[in-house]
Amino acid sequence: MRVPPRHLASSDTAPTSDVTRPDPVPLRAPYAGPVPVRTAAPPPAPATALVRRARKIDRELARTYPDARSELDYDNAFELLVVTVLSAQTTDRRVNAVRPALFAPYPDAATMAAADREGLEAIIKSTGFFRAKADTLLKLSAALVADHGGEVPRRLTDLVALPGVGRKTANVVLGNAFAIPGITVDTHVARLARRFGWVDPATAADAVKAEHAIGALFPKRDWTMLSHHVIWHGRRVCHASKPACGACTVARWCPSFGEGPTDPQTAAALVKSEGRA
Ligand code: SF4
Repeated sequence: MRVPPRHLASSDTAPTSDVTRPDPVPLRAPYAGPVPVRTAAPPPAPATALVRRARKIDRELARTYPDARSELDYDNAFELLVVTVLSAQTTDRRVNAVRPALFAPYPDAATMAAADREGLEAIIKSTGFFRAKADTLLKLSAALVADHGGEVPRRLTDLVALPGVGRKTANVVLGNAFAIPGITVDTHVARLARRFGWVDPATAADAVKAEHAIGALFPKRDWTMLSHHVIWHGRRVCHASKPACGACTVARWCPSFGEGPTDPQTAAALVKSEGRA
């Protein structure tokens, strides 16, 4: 009798209905040995060119500005919160100038909440918009007393619920007073992130979207110092109207090189040695 080829044995030679077909035999028995234990961390996701370039820029800015920090003076979280509110539409130098006179009579939320409005306005008058700012400080201090025992909360959600406090101010306080990393998307960070190609123009125009998009490019631990580096560069070199491209230490990685003068001497004349201070 002729034996069918092996690969046809099960299908091409159909069994009769009264024959029970055996279960198919697996080609390989399942692995029954010990389960291997991963001893090394999984390899990191491959860095994109954008991430690598963004981190190079930050490293170079850190070398360029080794003293980068908040240019507002403060001794504690309450003072930082108050001076950050006062810094709207004015220079850090003006705010730093009124700070001693402000915190001598009102060193904490309780004393500021009970402040005489006219007296408070007189102290902060030189910072501009002093009536609105005094109103904000009174309400802010009262909320701290009423809701947080007079202390500055350490959570973003609590901070942004306070009168006059947005995400920008909240991240300044978290990052600098509590060492909780945060990205401060102010006008400089939004502008430079767009020029660096970290975000597109539409994202740069939305502070919350920009904060998340920039944050995705960097380790969280770097967020606060990254903000300082970028703000310092924006204040000194990469100005809104005439960036000093020819004197810029990160020009080689900047896709916007040429938005400002590229001639070294012309650019050097645009560089400011101080920020807003
Ligand atoms: S090269 Fe020009 S646009 Fe780019 S970061 Fe430097 S100053 Fe700004």
